[in-house]
Amino acid sequence: MTQERVYNFSAGPAVLPVEVLEIARDEMLNYQGSGMSVMEMSHRSKTYDNIIKTAEKDLRDLMNIPDNYKVLFLQGGAHLQFSMVPINLMKNGVADYIVTGQWAKKAYAEAQKYGKANKIATSEDKTFSYIPDCSDLDISPDADYVYICENNTIYGTKFHTLPNTKGKVLVSDMSSCFLSEPVDVTKYGIIYAGVQKNVGPAGVQIVIIREDLIREDLPTWCPTMLKYKTHADNDSLYNTPPAYGIYICGLVFKWLKKQGGLSAMKELNEKKAKILYDFLDNSKLFKGTVEKSSRSLMNVPFVTGDEELDKKFIEEAKNNGLVQLKGHRSVGGMRASIYNAMPIEGVEKLVEFMAKFEKENA
Ligand SMILES: *Cc1c(COP(=O)(O)O)cnc(C)c1O
Repeated sequence: MTQERVYNFSAGPAVLPVEVLEIARDEMLNYQGSGMSVMEMSHRSKTYDNIIKTAEKDLRDLMNIPDNYKVLFLQGGAHLQFSMVPINLMKNGVADYIVTGQWAKKAYAEAQKYGKANKIATSEDKTFSYIPDCSDLDISPDADYVYICENNTIYGTKFHTLPNTKGKVLVSDMSSCFLSEPVDVTKYGIIYAGVQKNVGPAGVQIVIIREDLIREDLPTWCPTMLKYKTHADNDSLYNTPPAYGIYICGLVFKWLKKQGGLSAMKELNEKKAKILYDFLDNSKLFKGTVEKSSRSLMNVPFVTGDEELDKKFIEEAKNNGLVQLKGHRSVGGMRASIYNAMPIEGVEKLVEFMAKFEKENA
């Protein structure tokens, strides 16, 4: 019970800012004089309306979201967006996918159910350890959109330059890099993110969609809940939203503003990642697994090259309060996820421990 908080390197659900958890704790039983918890509140109440509207406004401020984009708070995880995107956007029934990891691969497979999905680039040949050159791809003339997973949570790669879509709408799964740095929203048709990586508790999905992509003329079989229009027309309150999760996201948005916004987060995230990558580049034991130019600021996979030693490292790190360092089950090794809420001290402690482990196991 009295054990101290650990440094949690989980890829998601992941670390949240302590200040946010403290506010949630203080407001748990009685939210701002309402006499009840946000969990117990009607989503149609004035108090809750203020919570969701403020959350949206703060997100719009943080990301500088233009007025012709809707912000939706949905459910169903990123996985549901793998379906909602093709269902809602395939007008010609054609879409181009850039497959840079498991999540993009799953989205691509899902899109094939609803139309013709083309894999126009991939990095599967080298176990997704790099981002392919996307400056001059064979974009389908009738593609309704081009799809990317911008930060590949499992493999630790990130698009540092957006693909040249040759005028086609760009759709981005930003789950694991959402709010980690400023983005130019106008370059996208849809940005979506499961918040359990870099923003809040699992169960909330944020979709930022350009208004002209919200269609009415969808196939009759399309479930009401899977139409962006349903949620856009009802300000995300068509049915009961993930109300408590949205409240926590709102607290995180306030926290991000207090930190100085997304430019300040980017600076801090670069600083944190540099500590870890510099160590990896100079280590004789640990190796980063990603091509340097494709490295993510959020997810940093590494290996020793010896599975037994990896296991030992993960176990000993855990005993030192550095937890959830195991790589994704599909790739093994280690992965440190260093999202916004991971303090720089956490990364410093990790590198210190890695240096010690390296010495002891030389
Ligand atoms: C975690 C993750 C997903 C899957 O999210 P769910 O909420 O479990 O559906 C999809 N895309 C990316 C980039 C992720 O990091």
